[in-house]
Amino acid sequence: MLDRNQNFLRENNARYQFHPMIHPMLSQAHPPQIIVAGDGCRVTDIDGKTYIDGVGGLWNVNVGHNRPEVKQAIIAQMDQISYYSSFAGTATPPSIELSALVCGMADVEEADKIVFSANGSDAVETALKLARQYWRLAGEPGRYKFISLKNGYHGVHFGGVSVNGSPYYRGAYEPLLPGCTQIDTPWTYRNPYSQDPEELAQIIADLLDREIRHQGPQTVAAFIAEPVQGAGGVIVPPASFWPKLREVCDRYGVLLIADEVVTGFGRSGSMFGARGWGVKPDIMCLAKGISAGYVPLGATVLNRRVVSAWYQGITPEGFLMHGYTATGHPLACAAALAALDIVIREDLPGNAARQGTRLIEKLKPLADSSSIVGEVRGKGLMIGLDLVADKVSRASLDPSNGIAERVAAYARDEGAIVRPAGSTIILSPPLVINEAECDILASALTAAFARIE
Ligand code: PLP
Repeated sequence: MLDRNQNFLRENNARYQFHPMIHPMLSQAHPPQIIVAGDGCRVTDIDGKTYIDGVGGLWNVNVGHNRPEVKQAIIAQMDQISYYSSFAGTATPPSIELSALVCGMADVEEADKIVFSANGSDAVETALKLARQYWRLAGEPGRYKFISLKNGYHGVHFGGVSVNGSPYYRGAYEPLLPGCTQIDTPWTYRNPYSQDPEELAQIIADLLDREIRHQGPQTVAAFIAEPVQGAGGVIVPPASFWPKLREVCDRYGVLLIADEVVTGFGRSGSMFGARGWGVKPDIMCLAKGISAGYVPLGATVLNRRVVSAWYQGITPEGFLMHGYTATGHPLACAAALAALDIVIREDLPGNAARQGTRLIEKLKPLADSSSIVGEVRGKGLMIGLDLVADKVSRASLDPSNGIAERVAAYARDEGAIVRPAGSTIILSPPLVINEAECDILASALTAAFARIE
């Protein structure tokens, strides 16, 4: 890159872009790191320094950066046609191929239809809107409410924010959708109920049962949750929690929506997070890993129970009045076909399970050696280091003191990019990571924490 360009980039970094999830004055004071290249599990910044990408783009570059197979698939599609819509009257070959592939893979009970979009937020919005439309078609239009978990993250659209389980994301944008409530999350490390995971799972399942009855089952459309909560702090539920969720939803006919935007396609160590818990949801939200971040793509998969409501005859209410210009974008679908081929061929869910176990083992000693690491937890390659002010009370470190950001800055000095999120340091490297790269990541983070002491 020419120096002239470098100067331009440095001067205008954070000048015009209004960056998400940060105050613009902070973003100007601490300009974002400019990433210029990537290969496999490594990325290079504008200063020419190379790092292990411990964030995997943003939980999404599962197959690693710069994969020739994905690049060639995108170029081959561009050689045919870069864009045509998949609206009512037209479709493109990659969108048709990908719809069959993902419905065949997806773990909803009898996956029947897929709605493509461009992001995880779109996938969630689609799920919520179609859940409501389902109930209208099924003759129960009074079912419009959604229940979700505290600490859950479901993207940034009005529907997704309404079911979001953290006030940080909600406050500035209220009033939100009516009829959305959150119950406590089954967080073994930090909850007022029980330290026994299975007892906790039952308590939270009972809370859901009680909330559905409190709202009135005839008013509840769906329950939505992530199989492993990601942005909320990498919270892994007890093993029996999702089977119990399925039971409670079935008891009242409530649809179960799995937000697999992060967990889909291997990140939590199984092809889908819900599969890891032995559960099939009714609706599944997908994005991120589906196209490994090469081109934005979201998808919402519906099971036969849901789709059958549309097949009782052609009525005005049954038209799908929802979709995006980018629905079924051929470049995104071509990228996804190539990326998922790698996920399957290289058994990336298996590698995520193996390397995740290794990385957690390497990082666990930090819970003893560092005064601020309360817990190291995770599943597959979703790993969180919980930062505490006090190990006995497990009170979270105040995120406003900037310690998580300092840890991340020190880790960068040591050659690894990690993500500070509130009072958690999150690791979500590409699923192709190998043992040596895991070890570099763990060493960099260990050295970073040593500098905090
Ligand atoms: N759902 C979950 C579980 C997510 O983690 C995210 C993003 O991190 C989203 C939805 C929103 O996805 P996007 O940022 O692509 O809109």
